[in-house]
Amino acid sequence: MFKCPHCNQRTFSFRTKLSLKPNKLFVPRKTAICKSCKKTVSVPYWSIIIEMCCFVAFVIAASSYMDYRNKIDVALAITFGFTIYMVSYLLIVPLIKWKE
Ligand SMILES: [Zn+2]
Repeated sequence: MFKCPHCNQRTFSFRTKLSLKPNKLFVPRKTAICKSCKKTVSVPYWSIIIEMCCFVAFVIAASSYMDYRNKIDVALAITFGFTIYMVSYLLIVPLIKWKE
């Protein structure tokens, strides 16, 4: 569980954190409400960059090493990309206070 930046209670699950999106051009913002203090949290704008890097890395890896006819290769590449994305979200991206 992750700490709420408002009240310091561990009220956010990893799944909730993963679903959060900062407000950017093509991506609709997604926030979460703390169960304890009912305040809104989100993730910083730069979490988009991490997401993009994962996607680009995945595309590069996929186009150079992957045999698209091999379904296991495709599944592995997707799993790999998604795992990196989740780990970076878990370790790097903090929850921040969101002010409407
Ligand atoms: Zn809270």
